[in-house]
Amino acid sequence: MFTADQLPRDNNNNISLTLMKAALDASVSGIIITDNQLPDNPIIYCNGSFERMTGYRRNDIIGHNCRFLQADDRTQPARAKIKEAIANGSNISVEIRNYTRNGQLFWNELYVSPIKSEDGKVTHFIGVQHNVSLRKKAEENLVQEKEQREQKIRERTEALHHSREYLDSIVQTVRESLLVLDPQLKVISANQHFLNTFKVSVLETENKNLYQLGNGQWNIPKLKELLEKILPTNNPVLDFEVEHDFPHIGKKLMLLNANRVELEGEYKDRILLAIEDITERRAIEQRKDDFLSVASHELKTPLTTIKGYIQIIERLLPPESGEKLKDIVKKTAKHTEKLNNLIEELLEVSRIQTGNITLNEEEFDFDKMVAETVDSLQAASAKHHIIVSGHTQIKFIGDESQLSQVVSNFLSNAIKYSPDADKVEVHLAVLNGYIKLSVKDYGLGINAADQKRIYERFFRSTETQKKYPGMGIGLYICEQIIKNHGGSLWVDSEYGQGSTFSFTLPIKQLP
Ligand code: ADP
Repeated sequence: MFTADQLPRDNNNNISLTLMKAALDASVSGIIITDNQLPDNPIIYCNGSFERMTGYRRNDIIGHNCRFLQADDRTQPARAKIKEAIANGSNISVEIRNYTRNGQLFWNELYVSPIKSEDGKVTHFIGVQHNVSLRKKAEENLVQEKEQREQKIRERTEALHHSREYLDSIVQTVRESLLVLDPQLKVISANQHFLNTFKVSVLETENKNLYQLGNGQWNIPKLKELLEKILPTNNPVLDFEVEHDFPHIGKKLMLLNANRVELEGEYKDRILLAIEDITERRAIEQRKDDFLSVASHELKTPLTTIKGYIQIIERLLPPESGEKLKDIVKKTAKHTEKLNNLIEELLEVSRIQTGNITLNEEEFDFDKMVAETVDSLQAASAKHHIIVSGHTQIKFIGDESQLSQVVSNFLSNAIKYSPDADKVEVHLAVLNGYIKLSVKDYGLGINAADQKRIYERFFRSTETQKKYPGMGIGLYICEQIIKNHGGSLWVDSEYGQGSTFSFTLPIKQLP
């Protein structure tokens, strides 16, 4: 090591050439010097870093023109720039693709600077170079990533455009009034059906808050609460009825259903509100109910008279009357009773509809009630053997006659819908404060779709409708009775395998 004043110097006190060369050799930059005065501008010096960078040895470098570094890659614009700078004798900094001895590409950040003689002639060029391949690669990756990102954005935008068109086409096609709302319940779009139904324009509807529409017709606290919960909880609004005096169309009954839209991205937090005008449907149902109620009442009166007369005939029938006459009177009484029961059921539906059903609650022996009901059905059905297992041993407080009606309905259905079976099983149990009763049959079974609908008024599965008599109201009544007792009723069934109808009832303690 030398200190500054110890550095070897020449006669003019300049730092010696040997020292300068040592500095060049130690540099991490690749350095070459070319001689401009010799033909083809050959390299006359290269340092160690240049050798390491290119993989060539000094012997292969000295005397060559620099172009060997570009191998066959001769058409790069950077080359033209270098040529121009050399011709003008000016400085230049370029990035150029070079190749190592074994053909590997590297990016060379090249700085070319001319050395001029005193008379201004270019005698040499000094080339200082760095391998910037890693930086270049990182830059290329960045550009590539950016392109990929942009491509993705383009695709996404297109997909969103399609989903918007898709959503719009559904919204416009559906024959139901639909509104698409944003999370703040502002109307984003309304379909034609909505505009026609409410006799409003797009301007009066879109970009307005739902609660501002019409004369505030949807500004109902309960509806507000449900709608505002849809997005955070994902709970839809189901069958919410709104009766309102709407501007332009008058008093109507509307059924509302609202769901979060399950599309991705931009459309994720949207609410689809479907509004169905059920005024007419409800009016028809009401007329049907009114008719049934009136008809059954009208039928009930003469029937009660007929029943009374039959009882008188039975009493007045002389003992010596022939067997045939006795049999006719007996059968008339039986069918009159059947008719009476059917009319009673219809009247019961009306009572449920109008909320006029009352519970006659009294304490009774539950197992005895079941046994008696089983006996009366067993007497009427020779083919099926009704097998009772389990017991409750409970003095139950409830409406005995209504609960007996439920058991009877379960049993008569089990018998009716299992024509090829020979047994029906009844099981009784007490479970943690509840009575449970099940009636199992080995009959037709009920398909999954019908299982959901059998408790509806007048619903009968298409299959049973054709072959078996019935009005489709038994289970409707049963469900209401069990509900009124605070219990629940359900069916487990497999189509073709049979069904098990069950109910549970909470056991009440005597006060
Ligand atoms: P109904 O028996 O008069 O039709 P219900 O209300 O008692 O009326 O029953 C409704 C429907 O449920 C029946 O029409 C039948 O399709 C189905 N169902 C009820 N019980 C059974 C059963 N045990 N097995 C198969 N289907 C049944």
